[in-house]
Amino acid sequence: MTAHLSPLLKQATPVVVDHALGSWIHGTDGRDYLDFTTGIGVTSTGHCHPDVVAAAQEQCGKIIHAQYTTVMHQPLLELTAKLGEHLPAGIDSVFYANSGSEAVEAAVRLARMATGRPNIVTVQGGFHGRTVAAASLTTAGTRFSAGFSPLMGGVVMTPFPHALRHGWTTDDAVDFALAELDYLMATRVDAREIASFLIEPVLGDGGYMATPPRYLQGLRERADRIGALLVLDEVQAGIGRTGRFWGHQHTDGLVPDVIITAKGIASGFPISAIAAPTELMAKAWPGSQGGTYGGNAVAAAAGVATLGVVERENLVQRAADRGAQLLDGLRRSLADVSEICDIRGTGLMLGVEFGDPTAPAGSAGALEAARLATAVQQACVDEELLTLTCGPTGSVVRLIPALVVTSEEV
Ligand code: PLP
Repeated sequence: MTAHLSPLLKQATPVVVDHALGSWIHGTDGRDYLDFTTGIGVTSTGHCHPDVVAAAQEQCGKIIHAQYTTVMHQPLLELTAKLGEHLPAGIDSVFYANSGSEAVEAAVRLARMATGRPNIVTVQGGFHGRTVAAASLTTAGTRFSAGFSPLMGGVVMTPFPHALRHGWTTDDAVDFALAELDYLMATRVDAREIASFLIEPVLGDGGYMATPPRYLQGLRERADRIGALLVLDEVQAGIGRTGRFWGHQHTDGLVPDVIITAKGIASGFPISAIAAPTELMAKAWPGSQGGTYGGNAVAAAAGVATLGVVERENLVQRAADRGAQLLDGLRRSLADVSEICDIRGTGLMLGVEFGDPTAPAGSAGALEAARLATAVQQACVDEELLTLTCGPTGSVVRLIPALVVTSEEV
């Protein structure tokens, strides 16, 4: 029997990789592609960074898998210490899984166990992954959850402060979204039943739209007032991607209760984590979280090497600088393109949105915007530039370069 890859895999490009280095993917078709997808925001240190490759190779010769509830291994202790250097004061405890979705699941469980409350409040248009709990929190597109309901209960959706979508100022959008949240808590959901507010500092698959700082502060204030947790999904925005180590550091003084991280933490090796104060973590019991492969030794060693590269090569500042350069270049060179309604970026998370942003999902306007974005993304492949689309209706072309991208490549 000849086996084929499942039709569940729908590739955004026809590229088959032969090998890759830094910002470049060398295809089996003999072409060199400038990779502004980085495996969806994962290979931040560039493909096959020599330090990461060396660390993983060395670790493979020591121990590959050591199941962390049985015996501990050195790379996980080192990764925890390194990560600790970047965590906000008070967040001193880290627990590991393999993927972003699993870490989101872990954060949901932690919030419920720690507070004894059932409900997780999250914003419309967010993306948190594809496992059932993570998909239940996800509304960045119907394909992530349609067709396999019932989803997890206890999820409460509230509007995102989406200025562009409504043609409002950011301040008006924040006032509206906070008022909606207060109304929700006054009418539909008992505040004493809310375990956490869970949100991305920058919407990822939802369209590369930064969450306004005043909204995040509003969530912090409300969480404190009602005794709920503020959980930040930094899976895509964390580890330098936005030009700050954490995406939420664009909001002055904000300290979350739980940080979820993955993607850029280990340059492509599968490892994720939740970080929270020890007293909070202690409210969930050992054995309630994690899995066989959680905190893998080779992935952890790659993580230690990755954080070393982030520090030594000054990648957080470079993400800010190259992001500003790319944003400026896009805005100048595309200023006259009438089909583009917005060009935005936070560090090296950049989005170019097409069509009418106020067009409702499913409308002719929204479909046309998605068609345009896909056509541009495909045309970029022909020009040997890899990008992706995103947004609830697929109307955004997103650029996610490696943090080591050079100004010439930009
Ligand atoms: N959370 C955010 C913000 C993400 O961007 C993603 C993936 O894109 C996830 C969670 C899920 O991560 P994973 O695909 O590793 O399960």
